[in-house]
Amino acid sequence: MPMIPTDTRALVAAPAADRLPETPAAWHRASWRHRPAHQQPLWPDPDRACEAARSVSMLPPPVAPASILRLRRDLARAADGSAVVFQGGDCAERFASCVSDTVAAKLRTLLQSAMMLSLGSGLPVVKIGRIAGQFGKPRSADTEVVDGVELPVYRGDIVNGPEPTPEARRPDPERMLHAYGHTRAALRTLGGCEAGGADPGEFAWVLEQGPLYTSHEALLLDYEEALTRLDPATDRWFDTSAHMVWVGERTRALDGAHIEFVSGIANPVGVKLGPGADIEEVVELCARLDPARSPGRLVLVPRMGARHVRDALPPLVRAVRSAGHPVVWVCDPMHGNTVRSHSGYKTRRFTDIATEVEGFFAVHRAEGTHPAGVHLEMTGEDVTECLGGVRELCDERLAERYETACDPRLNGAQTVELVFAIAEELRS
Ligand code: PEP
Ligand code: MN
Repeated sequence: MPMIPTDTRALVAAPAADRLPETPAAWHRASWRHRPAHQQPLWPDPDRACEAARSVSMLPPPVAPASILRLRRDLARAADGSAVVFQGGDCAERFASCVSDTVAAKLRTLLQSAMMLSLGSGLPVVKIGRIAGQFGKPRSADTEVVDGVELPVYRGDIVNGPEPTPEARRPDPERMLHAYGHTRAALRTLGGCEAGGADPGEFAWVLEQGPLYTSHEALLLDYEEALTRLDPATDRWFDTSAHMVWVGERTRALDGAHIEFVSGIANPVGVKLGPGADIEEVVELCARLDPARSPGRLVLVPRMGARHVRDALPPLVRAVRSAGHPVVWVCDPMHGNTVRSHSGYKTRRFTDIATEVEGFFAVHRAEGTHPAGVHLEMTGEDVTECLGGVRELCDERLAERYETACDPRLNGAQTVELVFAIAEELRS
């Protein structure tokens, strides 16, 4: 009896350079500076910020254009339903967690999930971590009050520190250099599949389908610009900070800096879509980011919430299909389901997360389009950040191991439970 699905061959090599769409005429890697840039830190000393960004721009590219193009090709297969996407990891990575043991443990959890999805679906899985660079966070307010003191919010390790003191919260541009160093360190572990408990042999067949790619939100544009390089082999610009970057729900304005920036890079690009996403706006986003209708270029990531997905998603799916964009639809069931628990923690209910995934698959089944995969905030650790799951994690227990630097993640057991349910969806 074959235990490994039959169509899990390695995903194939990059598209030929001559088939890559042109860079938009007026674009250059700093053209975003002429547009409103939301969610950027107010660097206390702008000259130091320029200096730090200049230093980053002289360092070697962390990720090679050829492997970015390989992801693009892999995602093209997900767009037509012949591969599944699994994207996941921390909401916010900490610099301190880029050490090899921690990265190896994350790799293991991601590969385990991919293995279940591949066995469930009989398809190869495109594995993308929120890893090796997910250091910048958009926030809903600029300041917060902690013990009666108003402080700037934590914007991720690339900007400031989470400790509730004025010193830690002061934006420090040299953190961009540290982010670069930690990205390189994490990539070394991922590239080598170092042990640290993870036996690559166990996952060899999932890794034969393709490597674990890296991704993060393209938020801090000083940094992304500094790592954007012209690739002489293809004559295209690549954001070498990660294989894939995405634009968040708060920064996806059509005339904004973030959309301008990603419109000119040749990486696969994701865009988050909340329940308020306007149909015309989404079609316009597709036109800006994927004018050539190139499979594997654009990943749309609805994060509607369990209550909205069945109503809000179908009109978007129809409009994008009519406009002829071969996008990759990936469900983020986390960000539309964040609530405040009675005890005061930012949390998510497992049932809401599972219900949104179910709704996402149901919509695509009804529309005859491909539900390509999922985007999760998860960890292999036994944290207590999301409510529910088979072990019925309750509000009283959130305080036990609430360790996230930003949004609540599924713990190891909750991740396995959800991935099992997703595998069932993919099978049906
Ligand atoms: C995130 O992915 O952590 C995030 C902030 O998502 P969104 O932009 O969808 O709110
Ligand atoms: Mn998050």
